[in-house]
Amino acid sequence: MQSVCILGATGSIGESTLDVIARHPDTFSVYALTAHSRIEKLADQAARTGARVVVVPDDAAARQFGQVWGRSPGAMPEVRVGAQALVDTAADAAVTTVMAAIVGAAGLPSALAAAQAGKRVLLANKEALVAAGNLFMQAVRDNGAELLPIDSEHNAIFQCLPHGDRASAPTAPARGVRRLVLTASGGPFRNTPLADLAAVTPEQACAHPNWSMGRKISVDSATMLNKGLEVIEAHWLFAMPADRIQVLVHPQSVVHSMVEYDDGSVLAQLGQPDMRTPIAYGLGFPNRIASGVGLLDLAAKGRLDFEAPDFDRFPCLRLSFDALRAGQGACIALNAANEVAVAQFLDRRISFMAIAQVIDASLQSLASSFGQAPASLEDVLALDRAARARAEALCRRAALY
Ligand code: NAD
Ligand code: MG
Repeated sequence: MQSVCILGATGSIGESTLDVIARHPDTFSVYALTAHSRIEKLADQAARTGARVVVVPDDAAARQFGQVWGRSPGAMPEVRVGAQALVDTAADAAVTTVMAAIVGAAGLPSALAAAQAGKRVLLANKEALVAAGNLFMQAVRDNGAELLPIDSEHNAIFQCLPHGDRASAPTAPARGVRRLVLTASGGPFRNTPLADLAAVTPEQACAHPNWSMGRKISVDSATMLNKGLEVIEAHWLFAMPADRIQVLVHPQSVVHSMVEYDDGSVLAQLGQPDMRTPIAYGLGFPNRIASGVGLLDLAAKGRLDFEAPDFDRFPCLRLSFDALRAGQGACIALNAANEVAVAQFLDRRISFMAIAQVIDASLQSLASSFGQAPASLEDVLALDRAARARAEALCRRAALY
Protein backbone atom coordinates (compact mmCIF):
# COMPACT_ATOMS: atom_id res chain seq x y z
CA MET A 1 0.00 0.00 0.00
CA GLN A 2 1.41 3.42 -0.96
CA SER A 3 0.60 6.32 1.37
CA VAL A 4 0.41 9.42 -0.77
CA CYS A 5 0.95 13.12 -0.09
CA ILE A 6 -0.28 15.43 -2.87
CA LEU A 7 1.39 18.82 -2.81
CA GLY A 8 -0.91 21.15 -4.76
CA ALA A 9 -3.93 18.84 -4.57
CA THR A 10 -6.48 21.40 -5.76
CA GLY A 11 -4.69 22.11 -9.05
CA SER A 12 -5.04 20.45 -12.40
CA ILE A 13 -2.37 17.79 -11.73
CA GLY A 14 -3.61 17.30 -8.15
CA GLU A 15 -7.13 16.58 -9.35
CA SER A 16 -5.96 14.18 -12.03
CA THR A 17 -3.85 12.38 -9.41
CA LEU A 18 -6.88 11.95 -7.15
CA ASP A 19 -8.85 10.65 -10.12
CA VAL A 20 -6.26 7.91 -10.77
CA ILE A 21 -5.89 7.06 -7.07
CA ALA A 22 -9.67 6.65 -6.70
CA ARG A 23 -9.51 3.84 -9.27
CA HIS A 24 -7.12 1.81 -7.07
CA PRO A 25 -8.37 1.91 -3.46
CA ASP A 26 -6.43 -1.27 -2.59
CA THR A 27 -3.07 0.15 -3.70
CA PHE A 28 -3.09 3.81 -2.65
CA SER A 29 -4.31 5.72 0.37
CA VAL A 30 -4.27 9.50 0.63
CA TYR A 31 -2.39 10.68 3.71
CA ALA A 32 -2.00 14.41 3.05
CA LEU A 33 -3.38 17.07 0.72
CA THR A 34 -2.16 20.65 0.40
CA ALA A 35 -3.60 23.80 -1.16
CA HIS A 36 -2.79 27.49 -1.33
CA SER A 37 -6.31 28.67 -2.18
CA ARG A 38 -9.74 27.17 -2.94
CA ILE A 39 -10.05 25.81 0.60
CA GLU A 40 -13.62 24.56 -0.01
CA LYS A 41 -12.32 22.33 -2.73
CA LEU A 42 -9.57 21.07 -0.43
CA ALA A 43 -12.17 20.20 2.22
CA ASP A 44 -14.23 18.36 -0.36
CA GLN A 45 -11.17 16.38 -1.49
CA ALA A 46 -10.22 15.57 2.11
CA ALA A 47 -13.75 14.36 2.89
CA ARG A 48 -13.81 12.16 -0.22
CA THR A 49 -10.38 10.59 0.33
CA GLY A 50 -10.27 10.39 4.14
CA ALA A 51 -6.97 12.32 4.17
CA ARG A 52 -5.39 12.44 7.62
CA VAL A 53 -3.59 15.77 7.14
CA VAL A 54 -4.21 18.95 5.15
CA VAL A 55 -1.78 21.86 4.76
CA VAL A 56 -3.04 25.40 4.18
CA PRO A 57 -1.07 28.66 3.79
CA ASP A 58 -2.17 30.66 6.86
CA ASP A 59 -4.41 30.84 9.92
CA ALA A 60 -7.27 32.44 7.99
CA ALA A 61 -7.27 29.48 5.59
CA ALA A 62 -7.14 27.08 8.56
CA ARG A 63 -10.22 28.76 10.11
CA GLN A 64 -11.98 28.62 6.77
CA PHE A 65 -11.18 24.91 6.50
CA GLY A 66 -12.71 24.31 9.94
CA GLN A 67 -15.85 26.21 9.01
CA VAL A 68 -16.30 24.38 5.73
CA TRP A 69 -15.60 21.04 7.41
CA GLY A 70 -18.32 21.66 9.99
CA ARG A 71 -20.81 20.49 7.39
CA SER A 72 -19.00 17.22 6.58
CA PRO A 73 -19.39 13.92 8.44
CA GLY A 74 -16.26 12.15 9.69
CA ALA A 75 -13.25 13.19 11.74
CA MET A 76 -11.61 16.42 10.61
CA PRO A 77 -8.04 15.96 9.35
CA GLU A 78 -5.17 17.55 11.20
CA VAL A 79 -4.75 21.04 9.74
CA ARG A 80 -1.13 22.17 9.38
CA VAL A 81 -0.27 25.76 8.50
CA GLY A 82 2.45 27.48 6.48
CA ALA A 83 5.47 26.86 4.26
CA GLN A 84 7.42 24.86 6.89
CA ALA A 85 4.41 22.56 7.32
CA LEU A 86 4.58 21.82 3.59
CA VAL A 87 8.20 20.77 3.94
CA ASP A 88 7.52 18.69 7.07
CA THR A 89 4.53 16.96 5.52
CA ALA A 90 6.45 16.07 2.34
CA ALA A 91 9.02 14.39 4.59
CA ASP A 92 6.46 12.88 7.03
CA ALA A 93 7.38 9.33 8.09
CA ALA A 94 3.81 8.20 7.31
CA VAL A 95 4.25 9.10 3.62
CA THR A 96 5.76 6.76 1.01
CA THR A 97 4.93 8.70 -2.16
CA VAL A 98 4.87 12.43 -2.83
CA MET A 99 3.21 14.03 -5.84
CA ALA A 100 4.98 17.39 -6.24
CA ALA A 101 2.35 19.43 -8.09
CA ILE A 102 2.64 22.92 -6.64
CA VAL A 103 3.12 25.48 -9.40
CA GLY A 104 6.29 27.56 -9.55
CA ALA A 105 9.46 27.82 -7.47
CA ALA A 106 7.16 27.90 -4.41
CA GLY A 107 7.10 24.12 -4.80
CA LEU A 108 10.87 23.71 -4.57
CA PRO A 109 11.44 23.41 -0.79
CA SER A 110 8.76 20.73 -0.32
CA ALA A 111 9.80 18.74 -3.41
CA LEU A 112 13.40 18.85 -2.23
CA ALA A 113 12.34 17.77 1.26
CA ALA A 114 10.60 14.73 -0.23
CA ALA A 115 13.79 13.77 -2.08
CA GLN A 116 15.89 14.32 1.05
CA ALA A 117 13.53 12.07 2.99
CA GLY A 118 14.04 9.28 0.42
CA LYS A 119 10.45 9.18 -0.83
CA ARG A 120 9.13 8.06 -4.17
CA VAL A 121 8.82 11.50 -5.75
CA LEU A 122 6.43 12.00 -8.65
CA LEU A 123 7.68 15.29 -10.03
CA ALA A 124 5.23 17.49 -11.93
CA ASN A 125 6.74 20.74 -10.62
CA LYS A 126 9.30 21.45 -13.36
CA GLU A 127 10.28 24.80 -11.85
CA ALA A 128 11.96 22.93 -8.96
CA LEU A 129 14.40 21.30 -11.38
CA VAL A 130 14.92 24.46 -13.42
CA ALA A 131 15.89 26.41 -10.29
CA ALA A 132 17.76 23.72 -8.40
CA GLY A 133 18.50 20.79 -10.71
CA ASN A 134 21.90 19.99 -9.21
CA LEU A 135 20.68 20.09 -5.58
CA PHE A 136 17.56 18.13 -6.35
CA MET A 137 19.23 15.33 -8.32
CA GLN A 138 21.98 15.07 -5.72
CA ALA A 139 19.35 14.79 -2.97
CA VAL A 140 17.67 11.96 -4.88
CA ARG A 141 20.98 10.11 -5.19
CA ASP A 142 22.20 10.74 -1.65
CA ASN A 143 18.99 9.65 0.05
CA GLY A 144 17.89 6.70 -2.07
CA ALA A 145 14.79 8.51 -3.27
CA GLU A 146 12.96 7.38 -6.37
CA LEU A 147 12.27 10.02 -9.00
CA LEU A 148 9.57 9.61 -11.61
CA PRO A 149 9.01 12.44 -14.07
CA ILE A 150 5.35 13.33 -14.52
CA ASP A 151 5.67 16.09 -17.12
CA SER A 152 4.30 14.23 -20.14
CA GLU A 153 7.39 14.73 -22.34
CA HIS A 154 9.79 13.54 -19.65
CA ASN A 155 7.54 10.69 -18.70
CA ALA A 156 7.53 9.68 -22.37
CA ILE A 157 11.33 9.87 -22.55
CA PHE A 158 11.66 7.90 -19.33
CA GLN A 159 9.41 5.22 -20.83
CA CYS A 160 11.60 5.09 -23.98
CA LEU A 161 14.89 4.81 -22.08
CA PRO A 162 16.30 1.57 -20.70
CA HIS A 163 15.70 1.28 -16.95
CA GLY A 164 15.25 -1.32 -14.28
CA ASP A 165 12.50 -1.51 -11.70
CA ARG A 166 13.83 1.44 -9.72
CA ALA A 167 13.89 4.97 -11.07
CA SER A 168 17.12 6.68 -10.11
CA ALA A 169 18.96 9.92 -10.90
CA PRO A 170 21.54 9.30 -13.66
CA THR A 171 24.89 11.11 -13.73
CA ALA A 172 25.56 10.49 -17.44
CA PRO A 173 23.38 10.08 -20.55
CA ALA A 174 21.97 6.57 -21.00
CA ARG A 175 24.30 4.44 -23.15
CA GLY A 176 23.56 4.39 -26.85
CA VAL A 177 21.33 7.47 -26.74
CA ARG A 178 22.16 10.19 -29.25
CA ARG A 179 19.46 12.76 -28.61
CA LEU A 180 16.24 13.45 -26.76
CA VAL A 181 13.45 14.93 -28.88
CA LEU A 182 10.91 16.96 -26.91
CA THR A 183 7.67 17.48 -28.78
CA ALA A 184 5.73 20.73 -28.40
CA SER A 185 2.22 21.55 -29.55
CA GLY A 186 3.22 25.13 -30.36
CA GLY A 187 0.36 26.38 -28.18
CA PRO A 188 -2.59 28.54 -29.21
CA PHE A 189 -0.50 31.09 -31.15
CA ARG A 190 1.45 28.82 -33.48
CA ASN A 191 -0.17 30.38 -36.54
CA THR A 192 -1.38 33.73 -35.19
CA PRO A 193 -0.09 36.64 -37.32
CA LEU A 194 2.90 38.10 -35.49
CA ALA A 195 1.34 41.58 -35.55
CA ASP A 196 -1.66 40.27 -33.57
CA LEU A 197 0.40 38.78 -30.72
CA ALA A 198 0.83 42.13 -28.95
CA ALA A 199 -2.88 42.34 -28.24
CA VAL A 200 -3.70 38.77 -27.18
CA THR A 201 -5.60 38.41 -23.90
CA PRO A 202 -5.04 36.07 -20.94
CA GLU A 203 -8.17 34.16 -21.98
CA GLN A 204 -6.76 33.55 -25.45
CA ALA A 205 -3.37 32.56 -24.03
CA CYS A 206 -4.97 30.11 -21.59
CA ALA A 207 -7.08 28.41 -24.28
CA HIS A 208 -4.65 25.60 -25.09
CA PRO A 209 -5.64 23.59 -28.16
CA ASN A 210 -4.94 20.13 -26.67
CA TRP A 211 -4.29 20.17 -22.92
CA SER A 212 -6.38 21.45 -20.00
CA MET A 213 -3.94 22.88 -17.41
CA GLY A 214 -3.44 25.54 -14.74
CA ARG A 215 -3.23 29.16 -15.91
CA LYS A 216 0.51 29.68 -15.40
CA ILE A 217 1.60 26.66 -17.44
CA SER A 218 -1.00 27.53 -20.08
CA VAL A 219 0.62 30.95 -20.60
CA ASP A 220 4.03 29.26 -20.58
CA SER A 221 2.81 27.00 -23.38
CA ALA A 222 1.62 30.02 -25.36
CA THR A 223 5.08 31.67 -25.13
CA MET A 224 6.80 28.27 -25.44
CA LEU A 225 8.76 29.16 -22.32
CA ASN A 226 7.19 25.94 -21.05
CA LYS A 227 9.18 23.99 -23.63
CA GLY A 228 12.27 25.93 -22.61
CA LEU A 229 11.73 24.95 -18.97
CA GLU A 230 11.28 21.38 -20.17
CA VAL A 231 14.60 21.43 -22.04
CA ILE A 232 16.29 22.43 -18.76
CA GLU A 233 14.24 19.81 -16.90
CA ALA A 234 15.34 17.12 -19.40
CA HIS A 235 18.96 18.21 -19.00
CA TRP A 236 18.82 17.44 -15.28
CA LEU A 237 16.55 14.39 -15.31
CA PHE A 238 18.52 12.55 -17.99
CA ALA A 239 22.00 14.12 -17.53
CA MET A 240 21.83 15.28 -21.14
CA PRO A 241 23.80 18.26 -22.55
CA ALA A 242 21.79 21.08 -24.15
CA ASP A 243 23.05 20.36 -27.66
CA ARG A 244 21.62 16.83 -27.51
CA ILE A 245 18.10 18.00 -26.70
CA GLN A 246 15.93 18.93 -29.67
CA VAL A 247 12.53 20.62 -29.71
CA LEU A 248 10.10 19.50 -32.41
CA VAL A 249 6.70 21.10 -32.96
CA HIS A 250 3.93 18.52 -33.23
CA PRO A 251 0.53 20.22 -33.15
CA GLN A 252 -1.60 17.12 -32.39
CA SER A 253 0.16 16.26 -29.07
CA VAL A 254 -0.09 12.53 -29.76
CA VAL A 255 3.64 11.75 -29.75
CA HIS A 256 4.63 12.89 -26.28
CA SER A 257 8.40 12.80 -26.94
CA MET A 258 11.11 10.55 -28.41
CA VAL A 259 14.55 9.10 -27.81
CA GLU A 260 16.99 8.82 -30.71
CA TYR A 261 19.61 6.05 -30.44
CA ASP A 262 23.07 5.75 -32.00
CA ASP A 263 21.90 2.97 -34.32
CA GLY A 264 19.28 5.23 -35.91
CA SER A 265 16.33 3.85 -33.94
CA VAL A 266 13.86 6.38 -32.60
CA LEU A 267 11.54 5.28 -29.79
CA ALA A 268 8.44 7.31 -29.05
CA GLN A 269 5.60 7.18 -26.54
CA LEU A 270 2.16 7.98 -27.91
CA GLY A 271 -1.17 8.53 -26.22
CA GLN A 272 -4.03 10.89 -25.71
CA PRO A 273 -3.15 14.28 -24.25
CA ASP A 274 -4.37 13.42 -20.75
CA MET A 275 -2.07 13.78 -17.73
CA ARG A 276 -3.67 10.78 -16.04
CA THR A 277 -1.46 8.54 -18.24
CA PRO A 278 1.92 9.80 -16.94
CA ILE A 279 0.47 10.10 -13.42
CA ALA A 280 -0.68 6.46 -13.49
CA TYR A 281 2.71 5.44 -14.85
CA GLY A 282 4.45 7.17 -11.95
CA LEU A 283 2.07 5.83 -9.33
CA GLY A 284 2.16 2.25 -10.63
CA PHE A 285 5.82 2.02 -11.67
CA PRO A 286 7.19 -0.53 -12.46
CA ASN A 287 3.69 -1.88 -13.12
CA ARG A 288 1.10 -0.47 -15.51
CA ILE A 289 -2.20 0.46 -13.92
CA ALA A 290 -5.51 1.77 -15.26
CA SER A 291 -5.68 5.55 -15.60
CA GLY A 292 -9.16 6.15 -16.97
CA VAL A 293 -7.68 7.38 -20.26
CA GLY A 294 -9.32 5.98 -23.37
CA LEU A 295 -7.51 4.26 -26.22
CA LEU A 296 -5.69 6.23 -28.89
CA ASP A 297 -7.52 6.02 -32.22
CA LEU A 298 -4.84 6.78 -34.78
CA ALA A 299 -7.11 6.02 -37.72
CA ALA A 300 -9.48 8.72 -36.49
CA LYS A 301 -6.57 11.12 -36.10
CA GLY A 302 -5.55 10.36 -39.69
CA ARG A 303 -2.25 12.23 -39.67
CA LEU A 304 0.51 13.48 -37.42
CA ASP A 305 2.43 16.65 -38.34
CA PHE A 306 5.90 17.82 -37.34
CA GLU A 307 7.79 21.07 -37.94
CA ALA A 308 10.85 22.89 -36.64
CA PRO A 309 10.20 25.49 -33.90
CA ASP A 310 10.18 29.16 -34.90
CA PHE A 311 12.67 30.84 -32.56
CA ASP A 312 11.71 34.32 -33.81
CA ARG A 313 8.05 33.86 -33.00
CA PHE A 314 8.92 32.26 -29.64
CA PRO A 315 11.94 34.16 -28.22
CA CYS A 316 11.38 32.49 -24.83
CA LEU A 317 12.60 29.22 -26.32
CA ARG A 318 15.90 30.76 -27.34
CA LEU A 319 16.24 32.51 -23.97
CA SER A 320 15.84 29.12 -22.25
CA PHE A 321 18.56 27.41 -24.29
CA ASP A 322 20.80 30.42 -23.63
CA ALA A 323 20.09 30.21 -19.88
CA LEU A 324 20.87 26.49 -19.80
CA ARG A 325 24.22 27.14 -21.47
CA ALA A 326 24.94 30.11 -19.16
CA GLY A 327 24.46 28.00 -16.01
CA GLN A 328 22.21 27.52 -13.09
CA GLY A 329 22.07 31.14 -11.94
CA ALA A 330 20.67 32.11 -15.32
CA CYS A 331 18.07 29.31 -15.11
CA ILE A 332 16.92 30.53 -11.68
CA ALA A 333 16.58 34.09 -13.03
CA LEU A 334 14.81 32.91 -16.18
CA ASN A 335 12.24 31.04 -14.14
CA ALA A 336 11.73 33.77 -11.53
CA ALA A 337 11.40 36.56 -14.10
CA ASN A 338 8.94 34.45 -16.04
CA GLU A 339 6.79 33.78 -12.96
CA VAL A 340 6.59 37.52 -12.31
CA ALA A 341 5.92 38.43 -15.93
CA VAL A 342 3.23 35.77 -16.38
CA ALA A 343 1.43 36.89 -13.21
CA GLN A 344 1.51 40.49 -14.46
CA PHE A 345 0.22 39.42 -17.86
CA LEU A 346 -2.61 37.45 -16.24
CA ASP A 347 -3.43 40.60 -14.23
CA ARG A 348 -3.50 42.55 -17.52
CA ARG A 349 -0.63 44.82 -16.47
CA ILE A 350 1.80 43.92 -19.24
CA SER A 351 1.29 42.67 -22.78
CA PHE A 352 1.92 39.13 -23.97
CA MET A 353 5.02 40.20 -25.92
CA ALA A 354 6.43 41.94 -22.84
CA ILE A 355 6.84 38.56 -21.08
CA ALA A 356 9.89 37.69 -23.20
CA GLN A 357 11.20 41.26 -22.94
CA VAL A 358 11.04 41.21 -19.13
CA ILE A 359 12.83 37.84 -18.98
CA ASP A 360 15.51 38.97 -21.43
CA ALA A 361 16.14 42.27 -19.63
CA SER A 362 16.18 40.55 -16.21
CA LEU A 363 18.75 38.04 -17.41
CA GLN A 364 20.94 40.73 -18.90
CA SER A 365 20.91 42.94 -15.84
CA LEU A 366 21.63 40.05 -13.44
CA ALA A 367 24.28 38.34 -15.60
CA SER A 368 27.16 39.41 -13.35
CA SER A 369 25.71 37.39 -10.44
CA PHE A 370 25.58 34.11 -12.37
CA GLY A 371 29.19 33.16 -11.63
CA GLN A 372 28.93 30.12 -9.39
CA ALA A 373 26.30 27.41 -9.22
CA PRO A 374 24.25 27.86 -6.04
CA ALA A 375 25.45 25.47 -3.34
CA SER A 376 22.36 25.46 -1.13
CA LEU A 377 18.61 25.97 -1.16
CA GLU A 378 19.19 29.34 0.53
CA ASP A 379 21.47 30.43 -2.35
CA VAL A 380 18.81 29.41 -4.86
CA LEU A 381 16.04 31.24 -3.01
CA ALA A 382 18.19 34.39 -2.61
CA LEU A 383 18.85 34.60 -6.35
CA ASP A 384 15.20 33.79 -7.04
CA ARG A 385 14.16 36.75 -4.84
CA ALA A 386 16.64 39.10 -6.52
CA ALA A 387 15.42 38.11 -9.97
CA ARG A 388 11.78 38.61 -8.95
CA ALA A 389 12.54 42.09 -7.66
CA ARG A 390 14.34 42.97 -10.89
CA ALA A 391 11.52 41.62 -13.05
CA GLU A 392 8.90 43.50 -11.01
CA ALA A 393 10.82 46.74 -11.50
CA LEU A 394 11.06 46.07 -15.24
CA CYS A 395 7.35 45.36 -15.48
CA ARG A 396 6.63 48.80 -14.02
CA ARG A 397 8.53 50.51 -16.84
CA ALA A 398 5.98 51.96 -19.21
CA ALA A 399 8.10 51.18 -22.25
CA LEU A 400 7.30 47.53 -21.92
CA TYR A 401 3.52 47.86 -21.73
P1 NAD B 1 -2.52 24.68 -10.93
O1 NAD B 1 -2.40 26.15 -10.94
O2 NAD B 1 -3.74 24.06 -11.52
O3 NAD B 1 -2.38 24.14 -9.42
C1 NAD B 1 -1.34 24.55 -8.59
C2 NAD B 1 -1.48 23.98 -7.19
O4 NAD B 1 -0.43 24.54 -6.40
C3 NAD B 1 -2.78 24.34 -6.48
O5 NAD B 1 -3.17 23.29 -5.63
C4 NAD B 1 -2.41 25.57 -5.65
O6 NAD B 1 -3.24 25.76 -4.51
C5 NAD B 1 -0.97 25.25 -5.26
N1 NAD B 1 -0.17 26.45 -5.05
C6 NAD B 1 -0.10 27.56 -5.83
N2 NAD B 1 0.75 28.46 -5.32
C7 NAD B 1 1.26 27.92 -4.18
C8 NAD B 1 2.17 28.37 -3.20
N3 NAD B 1 2.77 29.58 -3.27
N4 NAD B 1 2.45 27.56 -2.15
C9 NAD B 1 1.87 26.34 -2.04
N5 NAD B 1 0.98 25.86 -2.94
C10 NAD B 1 0.68 26.64 -4.01
O7 NAD B 1 -1.22 24.10 -11.66
P2 NAD B 1 -1.05 22.73 -12.49
O8 NAD B 1 -1.43 22.96 -13.90
O9 NAD B 1 -1.67 21.59 -11.75
O10 NAD B 1 0.54 22.58 -12.49
C11 NAD B 1 1.26 22.17 -11.34
C12 NAD B 1 2.71 21.89 -11.70
O11 NAD B 1 2.75 20.80 -12.62
C13 NAD B 1 3.39 23.06 -12.42
O12 NAD B 1 4.72 23.12 -12.03
C14 NAD B 1 3.28 22.70 -13.89
O13 NAD B 1 4.32 23.25 -14.67
C15 NAD B 1 3.40 21.19 -13.82
N6 NAD B 1 2.76 20.50 -14.94
C16 NAD B 1 1.42 20.62 -15.14
C17 NAD B 1 0.82 19.99 -16.23
C18 NAD B 1 -0.67 20.10 -16.47
O14 NAD B 1 -1.19 19.45 -17.39
N7 NAD B 1 -1.43 20.86 -15.70
C19 NAD B 1 1.60 19.23 -17.10
C20 NAD B 1 2.97 19.12 -16.85
C21 NAD B 1 3.54 19.74 -15.77
MG1 MG C 1 5.01 19.09 -20.56
